[in-house]
Amino acid sequence: MRTIIVMMMVAVTIASLPIALQDIDAHHYSQRRWEGTSVDLCYDSYSLRNLRIDGESNQYTKVKQQLDIARNDWNDEPSRFTLNLIGGQYCRNWIYAAVLTNGEDKTAAAAMICVRQGSGERCAIAELPHDFPTGSITRASVTFNTRFDWFTTAICPSDPGIKQRTLSYVARHEFGHWVSFDHTFGFPYESVMYASYDCSSRNSVKPADSAELSSIYG
Ligand SMILES: [Zn+2]
Repeated sequence: MRTIIVMMMVAVTIASLPIALQDIDAHHYSQRRWEGTSVDLCYDSYSLRNLRIDGESNQYTKVKQQLDIARNDWNDEPSRFTLNLIGGQYCRNWIYAAVLTNGEDKTAAAAMICVRQGSGERCAIAELPHDFPTGSITRASVTFNTRFDWFTTAICPSDPGIKQRTLSYVARHEFGHWVSFDHTFGFPYESVMYASYDCSSRNSVKPADSAELSSIYG
């Protein structure tokens, strides 16, 4: 028992390190944004069927409902910015499911943002490198990890070793990366972009997020 408590204390210490090292910041990806005020995107129904949700796979309708809840939360904010679901034929921006392996396989989902660079583009996952170009976002995608068990109900494990997540909660955060938001390191309830998974962060788009969205896109 004592060993478990010590391990928990170590885990808590490690988890709190980024807060000490990094200023509390509501800055987002400064000088990087979509050119217009709406983004067309598509759900890849083929791969999204592979997500196991509420204990079952082949549940695309349920997966779509969860993605729509998260997308519409952003769309319902006063900003005119819109995440617009379209048919796949001409789509550049996709939501997928796949096996993600990142370090110890703790990544529930990965949002990729691409920015124009010269005549091409450069892409990065969520945390942009320091030399990442500024300017217009050209493309984005989100990939949900099929190694996790997904739920439609509130699943709130803060332990990153537990591979269970509420799909709409994670989607809400990943769409935040799409609209060009970086992580925040204040309190979880202040922003859906809080760096680690926490139900009080992921359950809604927060006033600070909404204000930031309006300040970027009007
Ligand atoms: Zn993130």
